[in-house]
Amino acid sequence: MKYWKKSTKAVHAGTRRSQYGEVSEAIFLTQGFVYPSAEAAEARFESPGKDEFIYARYGNPTVRMFEDRMAALMDFEDAFACSSGMSAVSGALMALLKVGDHVVSSRALFGSCLYVLEDILVRFGVKITLVDGTNNAEWDAAIELDTTLVFLESISNPTLEVVDLNHVCKVAHKVGALVLVDDAMATPIHSYAADCGADIAIVSTTKHVDGQGRMLGGVITGSRDLIRGPIEAYMKHTGGAMNPFTAWTHLKGLETLDLRVNKQSSTTMAIANVLDDHPQIITVRYPTHSAHPQHILACTQGETGGTVLAFEIKGGKDACFKFLNGLELFIISNNFADAKSIVTHPATTTHQRLPQEQKDLLGISGGLVRLSAGLEDADDLISDLLAALNAI
Ligand SMILES: *Cc1c(COP(=O)(O)O)cnc(C)c1O
Repeated sequence: MKYWKKSTKAVHAGTRRSQYGEVSEAIFLTQGFVYPSAEAAEARFESPGKDEFIYARYGNPTVRMFEDRMAALMDFEDAFACSSGMSAVSGALMALLKVGDHVVSSRALFGSCLYVLEDILVRFGVKITLVDGTNNAEWDAAIELDTTLVFLESISNPTLEVVDLNHVCKVAHKVGALVLVDDAMATPIHSYAADCGADIAIVSTTKHVDGQGRMLGGVITGSRDLIRGPIEAYMKHTGGAMNPFTAWTHLKGLETLDLRVNKQSSTTMAIANVLDDHPQIITVRYPTHSAHPQHILACTQGETGGTVLAFEIKGGKDACFKFLNGLELFIISNNFADAKSIVTHPATTTHQRLPQEQKDLLGISGGLVRLSAGLEDADDLISDLLAALNAI
C-alpha cells in the first residue's frame, strides 16, 4: 500500500471487511460493542487490540476505516476523525498546548481559527504572535526559543496566500516547535504538508472529501505517537468524535476525490484566465496562476492551486453585489468545494466579524469575491460570470 498512488489509496486504503466479504464499506451504526465475557471486557479496557472497540466516542470500525484511509492519503502514520473541521482544529490545539506556551501563527486565517487562537487560547494563558504568513523574515523573527507550536493555513482563506512550508518547518523544528497545518484548501489529494515536514495536518472534510454539501467532518493526521497519544486522549474524553454515518459518506466521497478535485482545479484555472483579462476585474488570485504574486512557490509546492480562487471587482461593494445578484448558475453561499459552484462575499459574511483595520490588513475589500468551482461544464460557468460582469 505504501507505494500506491494517491488515487488508488483514496479507493482502497484502510479497507476492513466483515465476515460477509462486502464490496462496499460496511456502516457500523453502533455506539457500543459486546464483550464475550467479563474477562474479555477487562482485557479490552486494559489494552484494546487492532479490531477491538469499546465505545464510539473512542472509535468505531467505519470511522477507523476512514481514519486509516485519510492517514494513507495524507502520507501520515495515523489519523483521528472529528465531528467537524473546527472540532479537529480546536481539539489538536487544546491537546498540545498548556498555560505559558507560545504560538506563532499566520494572520490570514479562517475566522473560526482566529477565534480559537485569539479568544479561547489566550484565556488559558497561551501567548499568540501573528505574522504575515507570506513573509519568511517575519516567521524567522517571531519563532523564538520558547515557541512551542506554529499554526498556519497552507493556502489561506479567502485571499489565497501561500506559505513557504519547507522554510517554516525548518525554522520551527530548530527550536523544537511542532508545526500544525490547516490544510483545507490544498485538498487531501494534492496535500504537500507531510512532504514539507509538518507534524500535523488538519483537514476540514466538510470540503473536498464530502464534496457534495452534505456532512460536516474533520480529521487530524500526524505521527502515531501524537495521534494515539495526546490527540486521541483529548478527543475521546471531550466528545468531538466523528459519527459512523459521516465516516461512511466520506469513504464514498473519497472514491471520487481525485476525479472531482482535478476537474474542479482545471475549471478554476480556466476561470482565472478569463477573469484576468476582464476590464471589470482589478486582480485575480489563484495560487498557480501567473497573476498570483507567489505563483512560483505555489507551483513548486503543489500540483494544482486547488478549487478556489478570489478576485476583486472594480466599484467596491455596490458593483460586487450587482454582480453576485446577476449570476444565474453560481449560487451565493459560504461553503466551498461543493459539486455546485459557489460565490461568497467574505467582507459581509464569513469575515463580517473582523474589525475594518484587520480586513484592510488581510485584503478583504468590499469588491472581493471568493469563488469555488463545482462540477458543472466550465464553459457554462464562464458564460454565467461574463454575463453578470458585463451587466454591472
Ligand atoms: C472550513 C474550514 C474550517 C472549518 O471546517 P468545518 O468543517 O466547517 O468546521 C477550518 N479551516 C479552514 C481553512 C476551512 O476552510
